[in-house]
Amino acid sequence: MKRPAQAAPAACPCGSGLAYAQCCGPLHAGERRAQSAEALMRSRYSAFVQRDAAYLLASWHPSTRPAELDLSSDATRWLGLKIIACEAGGTTDVHGRVEFVARGKLGGKAFRLHERSRFERIEGVWYYLDGEIEDA
Ligand SMILES: [Zn+2]
Repeated sequence: MKRPAQAAPAACPCGSGLAYAQCCGPLHAGERRAQSAEALMRSRYSAFVQRDAAYLLASWHPSTRPAELDLSSDATRWLGLKIIACEAGGTTDVHGRVEFVARGKLGGKAFRLHERSRFERIEGVWYYLDGEIEDA
């Protein structure tokens, strides 16, 4: 994976190799919208890293969005994201799928979350619909 050394202090948590300010940062700040299902997926992972519950709720599909999300007591330490495959999810699509593995640590135990997520675009805005978790 390419990771420019000089960008390390502000490297985006999603592991894109870009600086946070050029990757998920503007999405979290509401300055830009995700242009693809993959970009939304990455920004949601980064939001989990940063405990940004408001962004996660806002990017959740209205039909599956939880009433509330409290990450303040979530002790998960997220260690990395790997996108395995993307299906559709581009600027002309309505649906998209992203398969990924997120690694983390909880209570001193490392874990892998392998999920196939579904995304839907409503009026030009991508939302996370739901996901199937694969057994490790
Ligand atoms: Zn990012």
